[in-house]
This record gives sequence, C-alpha cells and structure tokens, in this order.
Amino acid sequence: MNNVRVRFAPSPTGALHIGGVRTALYNYLFARQHGGQLIFRIEDTDSARFVPGAEEYIIESFRWLGIKFDEGVSFGGPHGPYRQSERRDIYRKYVDQLLADGKAYLAFDTPEELEAKRAATSNFQYDAGTRLSMRNSLTLGAEATQQIIAEGHPYVVRFLIQPGEDVHVDDIIRGNVTINSSILDDKVLWKSADQLPTYHLANIVDDHLMEITHVIRGEEWLPSAPLHVLLYRAFGWADTMPRFAHLPLLLKPDGKGKLSKRDGDRLGFPVFPLEWHDPKTGEVSSGYRESGYLPEAVINFLALLGWNPGGDQEILSMDELIEKFDLTKCSKSGARFDYVKGQWFNREYLLRKPDSEWAPAFVSLLAKHGIETTEERAAQVVAMMKMKVIEYQTNDGPKKRNVSFISDLWPLCRFFFVAPSTFDREDKFIRKNWREDSAALMTAMRDILAAVSVWDIDHLKAAIDPWVEATGCRPWNAWRVCLVGEGQGPDMNELAQFLGKEETLRRMQFAIDTLG
Ligand code: GLU
Repeated sequence: MNNVRVRFAPSPTGALHIGGVRTALYNYLFARQHGGQLIFRIEDTDSARFVPGAEEYIIESFRWLGIKFDEGVSFGGPHGPYRQSERRDIYRKYVDQLLADGKAYLAFDTPEELEAKRAATSNFQYDAGTRLSMRNSLTLGAEATQQIIAEGHPYVVRFLIQPGEDVHVDDIIRGNVTINSSILDDKVLWKSADQLPTYHLANIVDDHLMEITHVIRGEEWLPSAPLHVLLYRAFGWADTMPRFAHLPLLLKPDGKGKLSKRDGDRLGFPVFPLEWHDPKTGEVSSGYRESGYLPEAVINFLALLGWNPGGDQEILSMDELIEKFDLTKCSKSGARFDYVKGQWFNREYLLRKPDSEWAPAFVSLLAKHGIETTEERAAQVVAMMKMKVIEYQTNDGPKKRNVSFISDLWPLCRFFFVAPSTFDREDKFIRKNWREDSAALMTAMRDILAAVSVWDIDHLKAAIDPWVEATGCRPWNAWRVCLVGEGQGPDMNELAQFLGKEETLRRMQFAIDTLG
C-alpha cells in the first residue's frame, strides 16, 4: 500500500476515554506498518462542548504512551492549521460550493419552530418529505432568501439528500454496509451563528484536504458513514474517498453494554490514560499512569482488545504489534474490557524488568510514607517480595492477587522498614506460634545470634542450623512473630540479613519483653 495517511481526530470535550486511546493506537500501528503518516487533528467546531485543558491532556497522554504523530496540532506539518476552529475560511468555501451546485440549501427555521414540528409529528425528520413545508431557501425563493439574510437572521446550511438511493459503505472490518438514503435527514453542515461548520462537514473536508486514505474510528461513528459517503460524492471526491474501518466497541467487564466511567468507579480501575481534573466540576478521575501502570503494558493490553495475532503469544512489544497488526482481522463484535487482564499485563511487564528498575519508584513510594532508604535496599526487598500475593479490599469483600503494581509493595513490605510496635494477640498466626516457651526459645536464639560476627545468610545458617538440629527446637514461626509481627514475609534468614544484626536483635528483644 502506498502513502497511507490516517488521523486521530478527537474533540476536546474532556479527558480522553480509554476507547479513544485504543482507536489512536490502531491508527498508529496501521500507519507505522505501512510506512505512512498519522495526523493529530482537533475537532473543536462545537464550541459549547469545548473543555479547557483537554487538548493538552490528550497530547500528554500520547507522549506518555509512546504513540507518536507525524503531523498535527503541536507537531506541525504541511496541511495546517490542524485545529478546526482555525480553518473557518476553508470550510466556508466548500459550503458555498455545495450551495452553488444545489446540493445544499439555507434553512431559517428557529429552534422553537423545529420544536413545534417535532411535537406535532412523531419521528419528525427534516428531509425530502418535509423540507418543502419548512422555512428555507427552497420554499422562499432566491429573493426572499437574500432579504432574510440581509436582515441579519441566523440560518443554517443543510445538506440536500436525495431519497430512495442505496448508499454503500465499504468497511474493512464490517464489509459492505448498505442503508437507504431515505432514512437520512438533511444534516446541518454549517451555522451562521458561529460561522462554523458542524462535525460532518469539517470532518469530510479535512480528511480530503489532508489526503487521508483510511478512516479508522470507533463503531459509534458507523451511523454517520453513509452521510459521509454522500458528502464525498457531492463534492466530487468519490475517487479519493478514504476507506473506512469501524472498530468494535469496548464493553463492560461484566454484563452487556458499553464500557463507562461508572464501571471503572464501581470496580476500581481507571478509564482514562492520565489522572483527569475536571475543570468544571472539580472532580478528579484516576488515570493509568498515576495508578502505576507501565505504558508498555497499557499498549499491549489495549492492542488486544478487538484484535489478536492468533496463537498463544500475548506479550507483544510495540514493534511486534506494528509488524503483526492486521486491520482486516479486527473483530466486528464488541471487546470485553477485562481490566483484570490489564493488571496481569502490568505484572508481566514489571516482572520482565530487573529489580533495580523497580527501585526508584519503590523508593519514592516509601518516601511518601516517611521512609528513607537507598535504591539498593529497595531492590533487595523487591527481590524478596515480588512473587508474593497481596490481599486487597473490594466492594465484594477482600480478594487476593499477585503483586501487579509497585504500590502493592507498601502494605506487603512495610515491616522491612517499620518494626512491629504492637502485637495483635487475637491474630491467628501469633496465637498459634507464640507459646509458653517462645520467650525462652527466642532468648536462647538471640544469644546465639549475638555471637555471629559476619552477618550474612551463610553465617546465620551456620549458627542456627546445628542448634536446631541438636535441640530439635522449631524457632522459625516465633522468630517470624518477632521480626515481622504477623504470618507473612520472606525467608527468615534473608529477612534477618536485610535487617542487620542490631535491628534483628532489637526486634527479638522487643517481642520477648512485650509478649512474654
Ligand atoms: N471528532 C470525532 C471524535 O471525537 C472524530 C470521529 C472520526 O474519527 O471521524 O471522535
């Protein structure tokens, strides 16, 4: 394929939804695979829905995820400006062309008049059946139309749709989708009130001028596609019309229906790439980045929602995705948003990193809890604990999962840095393992350890094992009570080595004194 040009064209109406990220990713993979270009266009012609900060948020999201654009807002390029609100003059020219060709007309119906029509006629639609009973340039004639405009009345430009024609949308994923033009209404293409086009006109004109070859977008835009096909034809651009690919919806993790922000709030996962501070409501919504996801994991997870390369391989780097991605093999049916699988991907990507790469994030996590340590020591703890299971709270009660985020390490590893200061005598592990003779046993062990001169695992073993063998005592769980304060943690010798001699002996003495 030559000269592939695709675009991601969000409207800056708020945070970018994770489904939009998947759309951008598929465009990126497709562009890279064909050595083409990906364009970033801002579709901001609906000023009522504009949200300040949204554009910057979207750009920062892609920067974090490693999705790179070749042209567009903030990236530049030969087809600019790429922000639709800065392209007014361009659109006006094309609106005039449709008007001159009799393919569009002016309509003066006020919102109140339209409302009255809708109330009077069920399923009222502005189309071939009704347009001649409305207030527009077709019914008023040229002279009256000019007069109304001269008087400064607001108007819209509507697309004149000829009824009774089958419109074919050739979709790469869905095949041939046919609808009859009679069900379409005469869509508003332009509004005099703000001198701006609507989404439909701006989208088609820009795709044409920016030489877009493939329109890859969410399924929610499929109903607009027949209208878009008719617009290309009306402009005489049918020969260079881009090919469409409408991607499957992202579905709720449980049950039917489209994934919503409420599902994320309910089940505890983000639906936005970055944390989002809504400037209107002040509401803060969680993001993948702030929740501790690695961008590579998010990319891999999203790439497989609606497409997969076949076979068993699930871990795919960006380069592998670019190589293997196949737009023609995307599924038509919705993709369940399995956020638990997303956590699994994050764990897999974390485990592929050396412990030293976990360390900086773990050090800052500890710092937030008032603990200062080195990256070296943090990495030692990671090595001991990354394969453990954590318990976490949900609305359905406590659940368990593997360590999947750096933040999971805090509840799991607190005791490495904070000595037990109290003991819960009701705790099952303590009740079972701190017995009558435990204080005496730990006192004997403390004396043995006090004599160890080189404090490492080998020397600890050399001191403890013969004593255990000779006396038949079982000190391990009581020792765990002393050093951890509960029934979890790594191998005891490893833990003691990490804590050091002084701290180990201090914790033992404290437990002996406190538990008796
Ligand atoms: N501005 C539309 C959006 O917000 C673009 C739809 C399209 O890609 O044609 O998603």
